[in-house]
Amino acid sequence: MRTGIATVCLSGTLKEKMQACAIAGFDGIEIFEQDLVTSPLSPGDVRAMAADLGLGLDLYQPFRDFDGVTPDLLKANLRRAEAKFNLMSRLGMDTILVCSNVATATIDDDALRAAQLTELAQLAGDHGIKVAYEALAWGKYVNDYEHAYRLVEMVDHPNFGTCLDSFHILSRDWDTAPIEMLNPEKIFFVQVADAPKLSMDVLSWSRHYRVFPGEGQFELAKFMGHVVRAGYSGPVSLEVFNDVFRQSDVDRTAVDAMRSLIWLEEQSATWLAGGAEAAGGGSAASRRRYPMELATLPKVSEPAGFNFAEVKADDTAQLEKLLGQLGFGFEGRHRTKDVQLWTMGQARVIINEQAASHAEPSIAALGFDVDSPVIASARAQQLKAPVVARKVQADEEVFQGISAPDSTEIFLCQGSPDGTAAWTREFGEGLEHRTPSGGPGAAAVIDHVNLAQPWQHFDEAVLFYASALALEPQPFAEVPSPSGLVRSQVMTTSDAAVRLVLNLAPVQQARSEVRKTYQEHIAFAVDDLVATARAARDRGLEFLQIPANYYEDLDARFDLEPGFLATLQELNLLYDRDADGEFLHFYTATVGSVFFEMVERRGGYDGYGAPNAPVRHAVQYDSLHRT
Ligand code: MG
Ligand code: MG
Repeated sequence: MRTGIATVCLSGTLKEKMQACAIAGFDGIEIFEQDLVTSPLSPGDVRAMAADLGLGLDLYQPFRDFDGVTPDLLKANLRRAEAKFNLMSRLGMDTILVCSNVATATIDDDALRAAQLTELAQLAGDHGIKVAYEALAWGKYVNDYEHAYRLVEMVDHPNFGTCLDSFHILSRDWDTAPIEMLNPEKIFFVQVADAPKLSMDVLSWSRHYRVFPGEGQFELAKFMGHVVRAGYSGPVSLEVFNDVFRQSDVDRTAVDAMRSLIWLEEQSATWLAGGAEAAGGGSAASRRRYPMELATLPKVSEPAGFNFAEVKADDTAQLEKLLGQLGFGFEGRHRTKDVQLWTMGQARVIINEQAASHAEPSIAALGFDVDSPVIASARAQQLKAPVVARKVQADEEVFQGISAPDSTEIFLCQGSPDGTAAWTREFGEGLEHRTPSGGPGAAAVIDHVNLAQPWQHFDEAVLFYASALALEPQPFAEVPSPSGLVRSQVMTTSDAAVRLVLNLAPVQQARSEVRKTYQEHIAFAVDDLVATARAARDRGLEFLQIPANYYEDLDARFDLEPGFLATLQELNLLYDRDADGEFLHFYTATVGSVFFEMVERRGGYDGYGAPNAPVRHAVQYDSLHRT
């Protein structure tokens, strides 16, 4: 698959954009007109730089508002087009994007449109230029890719074809199956963008909220599958207008973009190989060869569970105290490193004192159980995940690690059927402080981990965890907090053995890269939360203090048994209930940027106590701002 990206996706100057695209490994780029118009580089400079960087200049865009106009306007439009064709020959470019008219069209007549587009095609032909005509979703008269294609057939000129843009097609819910019927020689270009499902006008949606494939909710693998089956083999190019990407670090965004195409390529191959809609059944279709070759990646299944969570701290006293009060047992120190292991049931927490000088406690790493750490690591690296190096002694387990977009280190660990981990043998003799078997924590596991994401890396993080770790993004929620709305994105495995919650902190809190005020947490599930809470209280645990107003509201909503309600209030427990079951949980006070949560899931309750999240945010905000 030939990969491409429009320069409008990125921040910076044209030169910076082109360099970032080359480093990220794109085959070619689309020159967005404004990037050229505002550049000090001459067309010849751009052409030479592209050649040096090994970048194809695959599409010049956009040319707007050509068709369906009065004769006077047509004359002006042809003059404008000729100027661009001359410019393109200096750039060494041969394909231009012409969008369906949104502004100046006054005549809704396909015969007239085709006649005017034929004049354009002939002019283009004289200059050796190909015109890719694209139906914009908000085009005045032409807003549907099949309509645009009918015009291509009417024009019937070798220099006139169509551009398929997934946003314009999927935002309107057009059926993508008919793409397979198009003549591949008439598909001159394919643009891909994903988007979250939003209900707003399609123009604003398109201009501000497009994201890279895998970061939104469009069925892009299916779209691409139809494109491949049509026989298209040209560039597949990202055209993503996004307010965040346009102000983020250009090199990082280019890598994020490239990752999205690598992922899309694999997903498209998977869709084609096994697709339920494959003509003549999956296996026959998978053997068929198409002109576009699709590369695949090392295959991984979703992780079986959390292997460990790691907290980094210089002064570990408060963390040790908290874990001990929650009922964790200290299993000892690592034999060669400044690292402690604490466990409760199957839940393992590492406290890492290495390279943490003056660092406030924070979540530094997560281990996931996978079938094969080597295969999972190969996949992540092919998806351009940065590798994390950890020093190990000869006889110690080598961890395959990658760095997530928020720089949390992700370790791919060898899972075992009984839930044990071989590396724990590297830890020395612990104190005689282990959880008694049969106690409330005997069956404890890590239930979920909640990580704060810097605003500029949020979409990148969603794609990272979906592509590298096969976690499935769930519909996102927005939680009110005193400092703004917190966007919350749950990513899970299909059996919910791994639950990761990515929170986009409000800007005021997200300045955490300097001073980490946004709080992150690790939640543990136990069988009996009330007993766990009582034991923790008896050990002196400082609970997050829940206001009395909350319990009054709880009673009004759920009509709880008075004794049970009193127990909840006495222990600062929170409660939720839905059609599937019940949820009890409590939070500890915060140390550095970390706090812990204990949860009990009753019945089939699958959520996170979302109605309680605003209470948690408000109380934490209050305690943070009290001093
Ligand atoms: Mg487009
Ligand atoms: Mg972190």
